[in-house]
Amino acid sequence: MKIQALKGFKDIVPGEVELWQHLETVARDVFARFHFSEIRLPILEETELFARSIGEATDIVEKEMYTFVDKKITMRPEATASLLRAYIEHSLYAQKPVQRLFTIGPMFRHERPQKGRLRQFHQMDIEVLGSENPRIDAELMAMGAMLLKELGITVSLELNSLGCPDCRPAYRAQLVSYITDRLPSLCSDCQRRSVTNPLRVLDCKVPACREQMEGAPSIQEHLCDGCSDHFQKVQAGLRQLGVVFSLNKFMVRGLDYYCRTTFEFITSDLGAQAAVGAGGRYDGLVETLGGPKNTPGIGFALGMERLVLLLQQQETAVTEGAGLDLFIAGIGEQGVHAGFGLAHEIRTVRSVAMDHEGRSLKSQMKQANKAGARFVLIIGDTELASGHGILRNMKTEEQQNVLLSGPAIIGCI
Ligand code: ATP
Ligand code: MG
Repeated sequence: MKIQALKGFKDIVPGEVELWQHLETVARDVFARFHFSEIRLPILEETELFARSIGEATDIVEKEMYTFVDKKITMRPEATASLLRAYIEHSLYAQKPVQRLFTIGPMFRHERPQKGRLRQFHQMDIEVLGSENPRIDAELMAMGAMLLKELGITVSLELNSLGCPDCRPAYRAQLVSYITDRLPSLCSDCQRRSVTNPLRVLDCKVPACREQMEGAPSIQEHLCDGCSDHFQKVQAGLRQLGVVFSLNKFMVRGLDYYCRTTFEFITSDLGAQAAVGAGGRYDGLVETLGGPKNTPGIGFALGMERLVLLLQQQETAVTEGAGLDLFIAGIGEQGVHAGFGLAHEIRTVRSVAMDHEGRSLKSQMKQANKAGARFVLIIGDTELASGHGILRNMKTEEQQNVLLSGPAIIGCI
């Protein structure tokens, strides 16, 4: 019996991994231009961290977490909670007034696997801590938009404000009364949510629920002066930076901790898994997790599987491997022996591959071609006797004799 990977857990094999590398390279470059620092975080955390930050009545905490119940630890379903835990634990707030951090890695959620929805998936998570300035919100979204543009990925940006603890309760009460009037027509999930998390009824994907919620009151019309002013300034910032967006009063986020700005990057090319990235502001969360009072924060996470699927759909997909400078084709035991030593010397500065099994020259030329080698060095008995190998430029097909010494070969390739 073969043992296979778990359902919803995926290997990323050569041929595909190049797209992941490309994605990460472009992302790291963009993050650096916006002056973000990387932080690397553990995968396991105390269950309490997620229960307290994400919220008990969310899909994630209710049914999606991988938890070792006896040990009270959980494999992180998202990165924000861990990042904030680290921010507090290392007093990063004392080092800089505003911390700009990103982290990249796997997250774990027990949900139904589909295209673009896995149980182990990867996120790039970006957070700014210590500022409630609406320009930061605009700048973060603009950075996300710039990254996606540089990747050649087309998305739309949807924006909403969820208000704050001052203005949300009154809105929530109005919404609950609207929902209560229509309760029998809503799906069973929404009937439950109407009590546990009524805002989530707004973004239910069931068509009947959507229809019922069409005329629901909009939070955007119930914001307090502070939230309204903030929301206007975020939009002004986006316009100043030339970032196109649309307002979506139905967009609420699945996590409890959001306030004010929330946003999603949406694609129309992945069917049901339309969100490639999402995030928002969470001004009270640092304090909730035991950090200093009044430490605002905002962040978002990009789903890497979905981005890679979109990269794969591009005509100009980056599928080339790392490339290869030189393939050494040794013919016969002595040729392979000489090649073995030369390869090691040349690898100090160039990439080299060779065949150790003494296969025919024809077979080795095939391997070199497949690997995309720029040059092939042929070493047979004649070459060994003369002390010169044959160096073939695979593009121009020109051949030259070259001294069988590391520096001489390096000088020619
Ligand atoms: P969805 O509505 O698709 O379930 P979400 O609201 O649960 O998304 P977030 O927690 O905001 O997602 O995570 C941010 C991004 O991470 C999503 O926009 C998506 O691109 C990606 N993502 C979330 N869950 C998964 C998953 N199970 N598999 C792959 N990518 C995921
Ligand atoms: Mg989800």
